[in-house]
Amino acid sequence: MYYIKVNRTFTRKYYDGGSNRMSMKYPEFPDDVTYTPIGEILSSRVKGNVKLRGWIYRTRSSGKLAFVIIRDSTGIIQCTVSKNNVDKSDFVNAGKALVESSVVLDGLVVADERAPGGFEIRATSFNVVHFAEAFPITKDQSDEHLLNNRHLWLRSRNMVSALKIRSTVFKAFRDYWQNLDYTEIQSPSFTTSACEGGSTLFNVHYDDETEKSGQKFYAHLSQSWQLYAEASMFGLENIFTVAPSFRAEKSRTRRHLTEFWHAEVEAAWTHNHQMMEFEEGMIVYIIKKVLEENRSELEQLGRDISVLENIKAPFDKMKYEEVIDKLNSMGFDLAWGDDFGYKEEKALTQNLKSPVYITNFPREKGFYHRPDPSDPKSLVCHDLLAPEGYGEIIGGGERVWSPDELVERIREEGLEPESYGWYLDIRKFGSVPHSGFGLGLDRTVSWICGSDHIKHVIPFPRTMRRTTP
Ligand code: ATP
Ligand code: MN
Repeated sequence: MYYIKVNRTFTRKYYDGGSNRMSMKYPEFPDDVTYTPIGEILSSRVKGNVKLRGWIYRTRSSGKLAFVIIRDSTGIIQCTVSKNNVDKSDFVNAGKALVESSVVLDGLVVADERAPGGFEIRATSFNVVHFAEAFPITKDQSDEHLLNNRHLWLRSRNMVSALKIRSTVFKAFRDYWQNLDYTEIQSPSFTTSACEGGSTLFNVHYDDETEKSGQKFYAHLSQSWQLYAEASMFGLENIFTVAPSFRAEKSRTRRHLTEFWHAEVEAAWTHNHQMMEFEEGMIVYIIKKVLEENRSELEQLGRDISVLENIKAPFDKMKYEEVIDKLNSMGFDLAWGDDFGYKEEKALTQNLKSPVYITNFPREKGFYHRPDPSDPKSLVCHDLLAPEGYGEIIGGGERVWSPDELVERIREEGLEPESYGWYLDIRKFGSVPHSGFGLGLDRTVSWICGSDHIKHVIPFPRTMRRTTP
């Protein structure tokens, strides 16, 4: 079965094996009708008589006239249903149908300054496909209520806008690295090797019931593809992935999820400073694509678009110790070795209009980060902080590539080299310098959308206290 986009107003045609027409799921609706997306009307590309389909967004009626605002995935438009212009039953149904009822209608596009978006539809027919029950989401609902009804809240204008921007960001990330000839690959989510510290590990039971011994296995959920990336890199050289990572984040912040979408890159024969340049290019590319594709969604979300328009590479760079000094001069009390949390990153970035790199972190990060040969107390690494108070969106750097140094680093972190057998093995056969990074896609989208919480930009957010809906 094929789906063919016949023209820009989305006529759908279904074919079976390329020739026989399939029977329709809803036989009462012909499949050769052209429906106009609301966005096409609002952007003045379509005039005259149209057929629309969508859902009731708002509705009120008075005597002879019903004002029904219709939404589809491309916009909202006011539709007036007058007793004089439609069948009696259509008029009755238009007055009766509640918010979120699905409808199909015919009408004439009329420019009208008073209508939201500048156009309205004067209906000539109005069919209610399904009468909705009373919608449980009305104005001024608590965050908790909206999260409990996330399956319904996904219809909201803001969610739809954020998810469209999210889709552009995912595509732009892939396109950017594919254009550089990087290969997309996948790593497992069940694993036994931790790479980002034990405190955020999720443990899963992994019982093998077919095993006569009734043996029980244990696994973790992946925090990062890091160790698998390094194994895969020796064959493919330049690779990337887009996958969920899992971290049991105990501290609840507006930028941590327990399941987040991680875009990770690894490249052989590549140094930290080179990877940083690629990353700048990637951020600029992603923003350019969002500005091209999603201007109306950014406006819907109330984003200050000028900030995005002014982001240019190269980004400013600061060393970790300079950041410590700067933060202390702002009233913090930090010593060498202290980690930055949200408070620190917020203070550092809230007046910035462009992302900033922090480099030369102390060596207490992950064991796979490479200590700086010219300053062994720090690492050859970087974080990228988004401006406007958002903070870290990327963590990356050069990896330890000498087998002996790697064993040393694993011991230094209080871990046992024995449990990293296969990972150590890959260093024994032609090790090379390499670098990579992880970009939090949800955090990136949150920043681009100007959102005040990461949960607003992912369809079904997962936190320590929420796994439903
Ligand atoms: P943070 O200090 O903010 O917890 P991190 O140092 O643990 O971040 P990394 O291990 O470097 O983060 O992961 C790479 C990127 O993945 C981060 O820069 C961030 O964008 C994203 N990320 C990490 N943890 C989360 C999370 N719990 N929720 C959403 N995104 C995350
Ligand atoms: Mn973290």
